[in-house]
Amino acid sequence: MHDQNEAADIAIINTCGFIFDAKQESVDTILQFAREKKNGRLKKLFVMGCLSERYKNDLVKEIPEVDAFYGVNDLEQIILELGNQYYPLLHANRDLTTGHYAFLKIAEGCNRQCSFCAIPLIRGKHISRPPEEIIREAEKLVDEGTKEIILISQDLTYYGMEQGGSSRLPELVEALSGIPGLDWLRLHYAYPAKFPMALPDIMNSRDNICNYLDIPFQHISDPVLKSMRRGIDQKQTYQLIDTIRQKVPGIALRTSLMVGYPAETNEDFEELKAFVKSVKFERLGVFTYSHEEDTHAYRLNDSIPEEIKQSRMQEIMDLQESISLSLNQSKIGQTIKVLIDRREGDFLVGRSEFDSPEVDNEVLITHADDVMPGTFRQVKISGASAYDLSGIIVK
Ligand code: SF4
Repeated sequence: MHDQNEAADIAIINTCGFIFDAKQESVDTILQFAREKKNGRLKKLFVMGCLSERYKNDLVKEIPEVDAFYGVNDLEQIILELGNQYYPLLHANRDLTTGHYAFLKIAEGCNRQCSFCAIPLIRGKHISRPPEEIIREAEKLVDEGTKEIILISQDLTYYGMEQGGSSRLPELVEALSGIPGLDWLRLHYAYPAKFPMALPDIMNSRDNICNYLDIPFQHISDPVLKSMRRGIDQKQTYQLIDTIRQKVPGIALRTSLMVGYPAETNEDFEELKAFVKSVKFERLGVFTYSHEEDTHAYRLNDSIPEEIKQSRMQEIMDLQESISLSLNQSKIGQTIKVLIDRREGDFLVGRSEFDSPEVDNEVLITHADDVMPGTFRQVKISGASAYDLSGIIVK
């Protein structure tokens, strides 16, 4: 990307090809830069990433302004195209755009078979990065000042499982949390089926592992879960949530849900609402089903009209808004540790360990001078809205 007022020699667009909305946004961006090239404001235009991997043949025909399309494993070729050479040893040398926190990918690809999901088609089979390599990268990040490391992959739970046996995520998390100077370690996208039960024990025993887990459940109705091929049923889901909450008291659970899956009946949807009401997830995202070619679900009839999908999504969002508001109001009067992310005018904006950057709640801090982003402060909470807290620094 580049500033719209400046000309650039080369633009590289990294795309997403996961669901309809993401594809649309990627195509719009490519077209916007294709116009720049046509107008002579850009010399070369390259496209990389998932959309390019999935639809390369169509894109080559449809958008001839693009000089070359690269797939998800073509980093070496892109660097060659730019006149340089790929050095795998430099992989861990990162220029962070995120400041004091960093996402750390522990695996690529996915071996699950969720019926609605195109990711395994695009990213291929699950390949775990060697633990030594991940730990080296994490140590380097911490040495360079990173305060918070956020572990990601398509499926954290599957870490090491492609080599046979059970998940090696608990060992990896334990080793990473032992890195001196790492303040926060956060876990995103842990698939619920075959969840490693040693993990909550480790989370509870280490102060620097955030009391936070992103665990996408997608649905709760048994027929829908079965059709989705999620490998977990309703009873197991409720049990898993209870166990995690017992083992890690006070944990903030984040989940993602999907509405409008083919043939999701009113009863299925009522079960989903009852699930949201009874579990009271601390954080929750909801998406509408997107009918993606070549997935298992593509053979089903995308039978739920778009208006119903949207209204079901809105109902879940409304429910969650009131849950989130009352959970936030219960924090008023408490003093919590906050990582300062940025300054906005007279405010500082930060997060507690219960919130991930970009997707979760924030803490707005008033009357705060001389506090640098990337530092921790104790904040006394004095106000709450559905998705934010506010307070003042007490230490
Ligand atoms: S776990 Fe399921 S939803 Fe997640 S990437 Fe793999 S197939 Fe897709």
